[in-house]
Amino acid sequence: MIRTVTGDVSIEKIMNTLSHEHITFGKPGYVGDDDNCYSRKTAYKNALSRIDMIKKYNVNLVVDATTAECGRDPHLLKKISVDTDVFIVCSTGFFKDEDNMLAILKAMSYCTDLEKELTRFFIKEITDGLGDTGVRAGAVKTASSYGRIRPLEQVIMKAAARAALTCGVPVLTHCDRGTMAKAQAELMLSMKMPLEKVIIGHMTSCRNLDEIRFVMDRGFTAAFDQFGILSIPDIPDDEEKAANLLTLLREGYEDRIVLSHDTMFDRMGYISKSKPRYPDMVYKTILPYLRENEISEDTIRKITRENLLRILDLESGK
Ligand SMILES: [Zn+2]
Repeated sequence: MIRTVTGDVSIEKIMNTLSHEHITFGKPGYVGDDDNCYSRKTAYKNALSRIDMIKKYNVNLVVDATTAECGRDPHLLKKISVDTDVFIVCSTGFFKDEDNMLAILKAMSYCTDLEKELTRFFIKEITDGLGDTGVRAGAVKTASSYGRIRPLEQVIMKAAARAALTCGVPVLTHCDRGTMAKAQAELMLSMKMPLEKVIIGHMTSCRNLDEIRFVMDRGFTAAFDQFGILSIPDIPDDEEKAANLLTLLREGYEDRIVLSHDTMFDRMGYISKSKPRYPDMVYKTILPYLRENEISEDTIRKITRENLLRILDLESGK
């Protein structure tokens, strides 16, 4: 069974998947941006147009990797899922500590055992739901900063592992510009997290294939989940990302890879001027490229469906 925003669903109901998108996303402080106020109506419209694009490819499960402080709207997630018949797995967790974005947790850390408090909070969101909405999280998302795991991020990762272990949900990570995969893997190992329940994120942005092989050889899953992103400095372009993916598939890593785009269907607060991105590139461009290069349908089924569902399954890793 997989924990979605409309309840637990059996794996047989799922066709194709995307492992990391954002239905809504705003950086902490977005509520103070009066020029770009969040509108649930607009977010709904934006989500429907994105979902139309991916339904063409039989995608009916999307993991929403938005964390607690970055603008989740559980009522909206549920409505979108009911109205479109697309299952949504939403996340608990916290994002990175760059630019003092986690000031609230820093303040809490002065007067409480933060790791314990976060573990309790994550477990509550997985078992009881987000606030009083009854919408339950099916994954814990964590993040590290560019080139380092900051102290607060370490605490979040440890709490994420504890909550995930207790509840049977996976940990999804954000590797900033593809860095720190190995260190994240080591931290998860030290927490005795079952490796088959951890997705090390944003390996699309990592040029060091040996580091990606390192985490996959240990049993972690690597996410090629930023296809289409051009705004992050010093990361591979889409051609290089696709070529890296092909190389690793040819080496036999088809059981350890999941795919996505990391798009934001609706942006809360400041709206960047970068080109809008759409969540259909994997199915429209990347899979045809893999097929042209003789990657089998069996492998494609694994990286678009089976691997992610096995990781999300509440019964796996026990
Ligand atoms: Zn993301």
